[in-house]
Amino acid sequence: MRSTRCSVVDVIALYSLYPLIKKSNKKSAMDSKDETRAQSQQADEGLEPTTAALDQLALSLPLGKKRAGRGAVASGLTHECGVFGAIATGEWPTQIDVAQVICLGLVALQHRGQESAGIVTSEGHCAKNFNVHKGMGMINNIFTDDSMKKLKGNLGIGHTRYSTSAASEEVNCQPFVVHTAHGALAVAHNGELVNCESLRKDVLERGVGLSTHSDSELITQALCLNPPEGEVDGPDWPARIKHLMQLAPLSYSLVIMLKDKIYGVRDPYGNRPLCIGKIVPLTIGAYRNEKVDKLPAEGWVISSESCGFLSIGARYVREVQPGEIVELTRDGIKTIDIIDCPENRRHAFCIFEYVYFARSDSIFEGQMVYSVRLQCGRQLAREAGVDADIVSSVPESGTAAAHGFAREAKLNFAEVLCKNRYVGRTFIQPSTRLRQLGVAKKFGALSENVAGKRLVLIDDSIVRGNTIGPIIKLLRDAGALEVHIRIASPPLLYPCYMGINIPTREELIANKLNAEELAKYVGADSLAYLSVDGLKKAVQLNMAVKKPEQVGHCTACLTGDYPGGLPDELEW
Ligand code: SF4
Repeated sequence: MRSTRCSVVDVIALYSLYPLIKKSNKKSAMDSKDETRAQSQQADEGLEPTTAALDQLALSLPLGKKRAGRGAVASGLTHECGVFGAIATGEWPTQIDVAQVICLGLVALQHRGQESAGIVTSEGHCAKNFNVHKGMGMINNIFTDDSMKKLKGNLGIGHTRYSTSAASEEVNCQPFVVHTAHGALAVAHNGELVNCESLRKDVLERGVGLSTHSDSELITQALCLNPPEGEVDGPDWPARIKHLMQLAPLSYSLVIMLKDKIYGVRDPYGNRPLCIGKIVPLTIGAYRNEKVDKLPAEGWVISSESCGFLSIGARYVREVQPGEIVELTRDGIKTIDIIDCPENRRHAFCIFEYVYFARSDSIFEGQMVYSVRLQCGRQLAREAGVDADIVSSVPESGTAAAHGFAREAKLNFAEVLCKNRYVGRTFIQPSTRLRQLGVAKKFGALSENVAGKRLVLIDDSIVRGNTIGPIIKLLRDAGALEVHIRIASPPLLYPCYMGINIPTREELIANKLNAEELAKYVGADSLAYLSVDGLKKAVQLNMAVKKPEQVGHCTACLTGDYPGGLPDELEW
């Protein structure tokens, strides 16, 4: 797609190998090498590198150019956003409290973003005004009884946000609402436009002003532009959406609301998830054994993940297909169009949704995320088994994989860590030292399960590598004889341009130390990652999709192979 692709990926690959190159005669990106050599030597000699030394090593790597707005929020590996929509069927006004359904749907998606949220509803008969409530913070704090009363409607969309491409401010809260010549339009977006700079230029050149750096606002404004071929009988929204998808094939899941309908859109690569559910009658006990397509619909929901469906009285129906535009009205759902991947490339669903982001009870590609994580653990046991007495996990992130590992290795699973649920997430703490203290605050050791044991501790991923060390120390202090770390995903090496906020390469520990060096650094007896092939195998084992020949997964943050090429400017 872009001529820069190979060279940029190669440069990044060199960075990833930087600490490991001992005899290389390459000089290109390696100008500040004295500290690096000293660092590698230190690791070779079995000395534990200090955090300061690692930071020094990171600083010696040349920086890329950052895209405006991106990286404005200091964070760890963080989720992107969640989108949700709901529409009642039959007579309006409906008896279903649509705003409450959306609010509960967003609560179920809270793990995808905790910075801000918003809901926009429509009563279905007035194209001029929507009911809107948005705010900063967690869903429970934003939506009070009073604000919910103002959101009465028969259809609506909602959004929960973690910023990846614009600052965390109220002005960037979604859904975005714009008033066009043809009525109001509301848009909620999960993802990040890979080619947002060129689309921004297009939109600005057509006389539209933008008030934020958000690519979600850009999408909203791009939809408002008249398509080049013009429109005869008023706005042709599907044609506008299709035009946008051709201009910007990566990456988004969108819910778009008009006066009386919702469009659900998934990018042609299917990079971000989106699925459909059916709101069924409360008397559904009577229908319990019926297939979902036989059940009557009181409404429809569309969501980034299916994890919240049962708790709002909805049943999972299906995924929105990559490139599909689906229309939800009071009469039902229908596919408007399916846009192919550019140059017939394979789809590229984010493999990290399975590894880390999604809730375990969500369904992607016909399988539950939990089952894939279990398979990752099984595969890891095959690839990197170790003599041990028990298998355990860092709760709760590695638990499914730990069960898989234990089953495959025929070892007992035992809990060894007790989590304090009232301590905030460690990644929001500002310094390495405080993050390390954060772990100590966050976990206690179940010493009776640990004392005298050789244990395998499974985690789903390692990002900075500064949380696992204190956990290992805690377990050793509790009497563990050996602690072997197994990571149920491959090393994280590259940035993501598709909606995931990954720390800089200086912060990613896998760009500084290989597995052996990392084991020494964190004080483990051994450390091993799942291979990229092993991860793909685990994901594909029980996948149930209609066209397996088109299926593919994005592994760019692990391999540097970007599905749509890199953005014009290297920003990491
Ligand atoms: S680069 Fe990684 S996090 Fe980003 S979409 Fe691809 S697999 Fe997901």
